[in-house]
Amino acid sequence: MGFVKFLGTAGARFVVGKQLRYSAGTWIELAGTRLLLDPGPGTLLRCRKSRPPLDPEGLDGVVLTHKHLDHSTDVNIMLEVMAELGHRGKKGVLLAPRDCLEGEDPVVLRYVRKYPERIDVLEDGSDLDLGAIRLIPVRHRHGDAETYGVILDSAEGTAGFVVDTRFFPELPERYVGCDLLVLNVVRLKPSPGIDHLSLPEAAEIIKVVRPKLAVLTHFGMTMLRAKPHELARKLTEELGLEVIAADDGLTVEARRWLD
Ligand SMILES: [Zn+2]
Repeated sequence: MGFVKFLGTAGARFVVGKQLRYSAGTWIELAGTRLLLDPGPGTLLRCRKSRPPLDPEGLDGVVLTHKHLDHSTDVNIMLEVMAELGHRGKKGVLLAPRDCLEGEDPVVLRYVRKYPERIDVLEDGSDLDLGAIRLIPVRHRHGDAETYGVILDSAEGTAGFVVDTRFFPELPERYVGCDLLVLNVVRLKPSPGIDHLSLPEAAEIIKVVRPKLAVLTHFGMTMLRAKPHELARKLTEELGLEVIAADDGLTVEARRWLD
């Protein structure tokens, strides 16, 4: 049975820097295909310390939504471990926006690019084949960093990830049809000029998409102080569907969004 495991739930510079929450990525296993989304600082360590352990050498792919450090620091080591440990050769897929690979400041080291079997560039409107999973990138608006959310479609349901972005009116409808919806909610309240979602904006998206289960993650200080579990409980009552807040290490099994 598929599952999503939140290895880290930290979302803003202060929370990441102080490691108030871990900043590791999200492990996704759907229909037997294993992906690691956004390997931030500590991802390799959190995989190894996970109980039961998650072996990165068993990964089929690594997905980078954008180049910011809290999403990409461990990408190089994860690509090496995916390919080299136990397998010793090219293995898996890297999916990343173009500016993670080209331009002045690419975060994927050139010498590491020999490890994956394939490198797919994320682009709006593309539809990528990962064996048992179909991946659809959704362009976000997140400052200068080219950023994509992803929709993963598989025999074990459709899982949508809304990552770092400012709210814009066309965003919610892109995720309609998702059974599971995961949202990076950095801030408690909206404020102009900030390229992150706030809680009311996340609620707006959930209201339109109406997934079977919504999970809030990637918290900044204002969210942590306001107690994410209580905020999620209130949203569950308001919206009439299940909303939960992720903790470090939370595993959500596919039966929760397939029932
Ligand atoms: Zn970011």
